[in-house]
Amino acid sequence: MFTGINESSPFARELRGRFPFLKFSPEIEREFIASYRRLILPRVRIALVTAFILIITFDVMDRLLHPLHMVSLTSLVRFGIIFPVLLLGGLVSFIKALRAYIMPAIVVSVLVAGLGTIYIFLINYHFAFHVRYESLILTTAVVYFLTGLLFKTTIICCGTVMAAYLAGCVVTGVDSPLIISSGIFLFLMNIVGAGGCYLIERATRANYLQRRILQDLAERDGLTGIFNRHTFDVSYPRLWRQAARDGKIVAVMMVDVDHFKPFNDTYGHLEGDVCLKRIAEVLAGFVRRPLDMVARYGGEEFIAVWYDTDADRARELSEQCRAGVESLGISHATSGVSEFVTVSAGTAIAVPRRQDRPEDLLRAADTALYEAKGRGRNRAVIAASPQQQRPESL
Ligand code: GH3
Ligand code: MG
Ligand code: MG
Repeated sequence: MFTGINESSPFARELRGRFPFLKFSPEIEREFIASYRRLILPRVRIALVTAFILIITFDVMDRLLHPLHMVSLTSLVRFGIIFPVLLLGGLVSFIKALRAYIMPAIVVSVLVAGLGTIYIFLINYHFAFHVRYESLILTTAVVYFLTGLLFKTTIICCGTVMAAYLAGCVVTGVDSPLIISSGIFLFLMNIVGAGGCYLIERATRANYLQRRILQDLAERDGLTGIFNRHTFDVSYPRLWRQAARDGKIVAVMMVDVDHFKPFNDTYGHLEGDVCLKRIAEVLAGFVRRPLDMVARYGGEEFIAVWYDTDADRARELSEQCRAGVESLGISHATSGVSEFVTVSAGTAIAVPRRQDRPEDLLRAADTALYEAKGRGRNRAVIAASPQQQRPESL
């Protein structure tokens, strides 16, 4: 998880790098691809409608120009093979459980449509003496501009189709001048398509990064880079409900910096800010799994949530957070607790039940924090929450 601490946003860094090779760092690339899959669903459907319009128009043209026995063969390829495969590809975009396979589905659809179009061209050429390679050029344009395939995949697909076209022409003995002229047009279509596809993907990627930068600005605390209170307030009840569904333990830790007012008074507000940043960094280091989160709860208060973490582990983690802050070794001459800046932590755990309220666990953590302060500060106290269903696990 990006903690956003002491570094500019990785999305901003990617944006500055301009990604000429259309690739982000592995983690961002994974996120981008996942979001891109959702983004292209409407595009896939438009591509599908366009492909159907082309198929029907080509078929009507064949019926007007060619003998009937020929038409039945090309129609069979169109409506018996290409059409159903495209339909299945389109169906993947509508069925939620299959959406993870949208890219392979598009690739298969593109290859079947491309190879089918070549086959129809060869039938028309050899048996009806009619030349119409424009259909392959139009199909290529649809692949580059409408299917939503990423640049590299599109190049591989269209390159394969072009190679298959040239091989099919040579093997079945199409006239050399026609192979050369149609080959040149097809190649040029690929050049135009590749250029357009590259620009579209770059714009899509830039757009994604800008959206993520804005999202970070809204979700994260400007000083420390960890999540802000609003994000916590939205995410925590959601996490709670998920734990209730999955029967998992939720641990909440509230952290408050000890004698921070005197720290500010002694070292100044700016030093205080630096101190808060470093504390957030320590806490974020112990909150690393995807469903865990750490947020700035208030001025010098933080909150961490660990999902599916038992009492022993929660105790260990809160103690590590406390010790981690102390071991930063930030001098605090007016603390009275230690020569360094310290924190107090209160942790409560529960297996949420549907009838419980998420804020009860927060209250229990707050009470534990209060107890940690009362017992002299610079300590981590763990409390059984009122919802605790398995006290024996403590
Ligand atoms: P205790 O050990 O009881 O928590 O004592 P404390 O002095 O930390 O508690 P108190 O609530 O009196 O003081 C909190 C201080 O945190 C006061 C406020 O100036 C400081 N603070 C809150 N937000 C920020 C911030 O963003 N930057 C800085 N530098 N200080 C902050
Ligand atoms: Mg406080
Ligand atoms: Mg304090």
